[in-house]
Amino acid sequence: MRIETIQKLCCPFDKEELALEIITRDINNNIVEGILTCKYCKRYYPIVSGIPIMSPDEYREKQFEAPLIGKWKPELLNVDDTNFKLLENNV
Ligand SMILES: [Zn+2]
Repeated sequence: MRIETIQKLCCPFDKEELALEIITRDINNNIVEGILTCKYCKRYYPIVSGIPIMSPDEYREKQFEAPLIGKWKPELLNVDDTNFKLLENNV
């Protein structure tokens, strides 16, 4: 996904700005992997294969996202996976 497009996204919950951290880019400088963090509610949204995952909490699965966050963690500044807002009961 193009960086210009990603920068237009806002948090779907509170419409606040998102901070972008880029993990990998393709040869055209588009974002392949990265993470968006909401400074307000502290939710984070991974970008996987160029697609930002911004589903409602009840549709997100920590088991699916945890390995990614673990893999990226050395490069991440803002993310702490205790920020994961999943409603655990709904898994
Ligand atoms: Zn937010």
